[in-house]
Amino acid sequence: MRVVIVGGGFAAVEFATTLRRKLKSSECEIMVFSRENHMVFHPLLADVAGASINPDAAAAPLRQMLKGVVCRTERVQRVDLAASEIEFDDGTGVVSKLHYDHVVVACGAESNLGIIPGMTDHAFPFKLMRDAVELRQHVVRQMECAEATSDPEVRRHHLSFIVVGAGFSGVEVGGEINELVRSSTRFYRNFRKEDVVVTLVHSGDQVLPEVAPTLREFARKKMEKAGVSILLNTRAAAATQEGVELGNGKMLRGATIVCTIGTAISPLVQHLDVPKERGRIRASADMRIEGQSNAWTLGDCAYIMNAFDNKPSPTTAQFAVRQGHQAALNLVRVVRGEPTQPFTFKQLGQLCSIGGYSAVAEMFGMRVSGFLAWFMWRGVYLLKLPTWSRRIKVAFDWFWDVLFPRDLSFLNIDLSKAVTHAFYRAGDFILRRGEVPHAFNIIEAGEVEILRVTEENQEAKVFALLGKGDFFGESALLDKRPLDSDIRARSSVRVMQMGSDLFAQLAGASQSFRDTLSQAMARRTEDFWRRLPLVKTLLENEALQTFLEPLPARSLTGETTLAEAVAALNESAGGELLILDAKQRLWGTLDRGNLYEIVSRIALIPVEKQGDVPGRKLSEFLSEDTLSITAQDSVQAAVATMLDHNVSWMPVVQSKEDPRPVGVLRAARISGRLLEKIGLAKTDRAGAAG
Ligand SMILES: Cc1cc2nc3c(=O)[nH]c(=O)nc-3n(C[C@H](O)[C@H](O)[C@H](O)COP(=O)(O)OP(=O)(O)OC[C@H]3O[C@@H](n4cnc5c(N)ncnc54)[C@H](O)[C@@H]3O)c2cc1C
Repeated sequence: MRVVIVGGGFAAVEFATTLRRKLKSSECEIMVFSRENHMVFHPLLADVAGASINPDAAAAPLRQMLKGVVCRTERVQRVDLAASEIEFDDGTGVVSKLHYDHVVVACGAESNLGIIPGMTDHAFPFKLMRDAVELRQHVVRQMECAEATSDPEVRRHHLSFIVVGAGFSGVEVGGEINELVRSSTRFYRNFRKEDVVVTLVHSGDQVLPEVAPTLREFARKKMEKAGVSILLNTRAAAATQEGVELGNGKMLRGATIVCTIGTAISPLVQHLDVPKERGRIRASADMRIEGQSNAWTLGDCAYIMNAFDNKPSPTTAQFAVRQGHQAALNLVRVVRGEPTQPFTFKQLGQLCSIGGYSAVAEMFGMRVSGFLAWFMWRGVYLLKLPTWSRRIKVAFDWFWDVLFPRDLSFLNIDLSKAVTHAFYRAGDFILRRGEVPHAFNIIEAGEVEILRVTEENQEAKVFALLGKGDFFGESALLDKRPLDSDIRARSSVRVMQMGSDLFAQLAGASQSFRDTLSQAMARRTEDFWRRLPLVKTLLENEALQTFLEPLPARSLTGETTLAEAVAALNESAGGELLILDAKQRLWGTLDRGNLYEIVSRIALIPVEKQGDVPGRKLSEFLSEDTLSITAQDSVQAAVATMLDHNVSWMPVVQSKEDPRPVGVLRAARISGRLLEKIGLAKTDRAGAAG
């Protein structure tokens, strides 16, 4: 018999250990498939981030822990319940299949920072060992940066740390960062303890909703006394390089954001066609997946009722371990033809460290807080660690931490060779005039304004607009000279940033990339208004409204089929159509140029699959592209944007805040007007369009 376990966490390890003890190797082959080759002991991740233990102490290699179990470091892609097979890949894209007699799905949950705009780009998740190690490096780097700067604003930014969420992991990591930074200030000359700001942002009205109210109050007071600010009933609305925008519109500034909220169902579970409860797999009382006889589910990915109190099991390590143990015993009962038993567990208690040698605990009905609770917390987790070698290692690290200062060494990351992403809110400046950019920027979503100061007027005005797929910062980066324009987000913008070294390597290696760059630089840097002063003067006093043409008679949506869209385009007078979303906001445009793009994409589809193309949705072939001009923009900005994008028309929307289309602007109409002004065409506005 072969039992395949998917996952290498608390539930999987306990299941495999119990089953191995109960069934001999000759009776049953046990295989554990886990993405990582180690089990992460999550309750100690905050200690890793706070540099009070070494990372290897909180991660135990699975093959050393699980004697007599086959351990494979491969990601399981799919569980085929009907065929009793798993599909897994080794990271190279080659997919293999394996038959099982019983399968256990214990793949936990994933962190999901996507629930708050900008969090994915600017916040640290806190789930994997990598997250804790990177956070520790980052925190120490902030102290080095604070030491190096003479600007008090910049120093404050580096010494401000924001933790979103004040459940177990938020409180633990907030407490540890606070302890690490404050206890290390004595090694730096440029800042003191009072300069350090650690803030917990929590949407609830109390921290630690998991523990008793008296303990919550104690934890809050103790943390505040240690210098941690706690913002209750406050939601994080967005994250940027500057910090966290709160629900009330205020900006909480800080160079470090840790996001401990937001979990997502693992893709493996998402693709499993079984009964689910809020994304988690519904289990029968004995922990088999509902409706299955040889498939089991455990831990954070499972929805398991606890027969002790008839409540769903919480997603904690304590429950995952008990489930692993009892499910293994049930599998043995199934093999032996005995009746299985429902999952039942009385919670023993809860422990949470809050930093500064303090913790809160609720054990066997007793509530303890302070140093004693902290001592208990450490003792309990020491005994819970999976192997004796790890227990000794952690005990040694903790002993070391009490006697000696925390380790402040870190590996410097070379950002000039990295690709990162950044999120900006509408109105945020991405780059300022006079700055030398450190990265090449490509817009992934949203619109960006280039603002220039005119010779006559010192006020910066919108010179041109950039949209999805456009780039900026290239000329200043290549010439290492300061920018002559401000770059500002017009809407919410996501930008991919390629470090200067990487950019130089790419530009050096690819002629076509260099050509694209030089074309863009020629268009943008040789300010064409200077070359065409007459055009500039002639357009100066013209209102954009003068050139506004009515909206096309028909508009499309992303749901419109390709056949309908082509028919509508053929019937349209101007050969251009607008695509709107459900709220009538601009989503994209369709003209003959797009049509050629669509045709070239269709050409890549295998001929035998091209039959259904006419019935497919427009949104499958075009992606959202909302580049537009507003009715308040200048004609010069519109002309510069059209020249920059090599387009002959653009949609015009109501305003930045209200992107509903109000008309279209055509280059032909503007050039007709210019000819008119210099006496080369008749003074007939209607005829100018030609
Ligand atoms: C920072 C933090 C602190 C916490 N503190 C506490 C605490 O103090 N007390 C407490 O009780 N609980 C705590 N928890 C919660 C606890 O860690 C989880 O409830 C527990 O880990 C769940 O165990 P699990 O086995 O279901 O999943 P996990 O332990 O998350 O393990 C899932 C495993 O599945 C693997 N995997 C996922 N997808 C695949 C795939 N497709 N193929 C192969 N392998 C896959 C992963 O690599 C991982 O090894 C904490 C959690 C965090 C993040």
